[in-house]
Amino acid sequence: PLSKNLNELDQKHFIHPTSSIQQQQEHGPAYIFEKGDGIYLTDNKGETYIDAMSSLWNVNLGHGRSELAEVAKEQMEKLAFSSAFSTFSHKPAILLAEKIASIAPKGLNAVFFTSGGSESNDTAFKLARHYWKLKGKPERRKIISRKKAYHGVAAASTSATGIPQFWDMAGTFMPDFVHAETPYEKGTTEAIESVRQVIEQEGPETITAFIAEPVQGAGGVIIPPDDYFQEVRKLCDEYGILFIADEIITGFGRTGKMFGMEHWNVQPDLMTFAKGVTSGYIPFGGVVVSDEIHDMMKERSTGTLFHGFTYSGHPTASAVALKNIDILENENLAANSQKMGKRLLQGFERIKKDTNMVGDVRTLGLLGAVELVKDPSTNERFPAEWKVAGKVINALYDRGVICRPVTFDSTDIICFSPPLIINEEQIDTMVEKVYDAVLAVEKEIGLK
Ligand code: PLP
Repeated sequence: PLSKNLNELDQKHFIHPTSSIQQQQEHGPAYIFEKGDGIYLTDNKGETYIDAMSSLWNVNLGHGRSELAEVAKEQMEKLAFSSAFSTFSHKPAILLAEKIASIAPKGLNAVFFTSGGSESNDTAFKLARHYWKLKGKPERRKIISRKKAYHGVAAASTSATGIPQFWDMAGTFMPDFVHAETPYEKGTTEAIESVRQVIEQEGPETITAFIAEPVQGAGGVIIPPDDYFQEVRKLCDEYGILFIADEIITGFGRTGKMFGMEHWNVQPDLMTFAKGVTSGYIPFGGVVVSDEIHDMMKERSTGTLFHGFTYSGHPTASAVALKNIDILENENLAANSQKMGKRLLQGFERIKKDTNMVGDVRTLGLLGAVELVKDPSTNERFPAEWKVAGKVINALYDRGVICRPVTFDSTDIICFSPPLIINEEQIDTMVEKVYDAVLAVEKEIGLK
């Protein structure tokens, strides 16, 4: 009876993010979670699931870490909130800024804090434009991002997002945003050339910055070829364009390094983060900027920086972030991510070998994907109306695994991003369940 009540209340009052309103009104939520412990979530019917997505790619430490709760309680009792505007400050944000500077790429030493990823990317665009303005080049306003990119849903980050479905809501697509190809269906050379073409077409002197996720997450876990980002960084240098790394998913150990761009030794000018910085225990995010940008702001700004959120540098969130990073480092979770990611890939490769509808499989640390295709020898895709990814996702739910499908551009991709604390046995259990789910769907659609 209680769950029925919650369902009804949910249908009536709760507008869910990224939801089908129709489905919500007809069915209500399928799962109401009540408890989390490690890699597991338990719903209000008492069923337990492996949270193979770390919820929204963010619960890097896993659920139920009491150390984070204790730090939050302590900080809340001492000073839950006070302003960080202008000349006001407080210890947790100062210490966190120092900590982030110490782990960020070399030469990025100053941080602007936000409450999440979208705010971070909008802030990065504004800071980048501010930089050019201070440099006497206010005409540099355009932002280049890539197709299949996901950068958030605030006004500017929606526009930088390269998944057109997100542009549908009226008035959210802003001028001065352009999208280049990404190395997915296009080859590496073509994708790099596309960035150059966009720069040339738009005019280099009009461009503020290029932004990219080291691994495109919501686009389908697209891991770039090894030389891609170094080449794009060279292009940015050639044309004097700022390079923004969106490390919102890939930061804080997710890909087996503290930050994703470390895989290719690429140095961004600005880096945005959120999600894993607090493992989702409390909303938080930020932008780290290069010394050049920070120096320019210090030297040439006159008057006020008219940009700041009430919760920029929130003391309680900062204290939780500090503790979260502390645990990530002390437990070597980036290294565990690398190791477990390799094991996960071995498991995926076995599934690919032993079944008839798995195309590419890939992981970088604990960010991974399994692509479902009608014919693995040609990579021919399934007709969209077969809804194959949806079927596999449902089969996984039935087997106690929560994953996420990517189905736009007629793909059927299953994404994986489990908590970084996952161990070998848990990886193997998860792989077995994926194997079983793929076989069941294969049978259902008559491929086997
Ligand atoms: N950038 C990337 C790469 C993301 O994956 C996300 C969220 O999924 C965002 C930005 C937006 O972050 P938020 O949802 O916290 O606003």
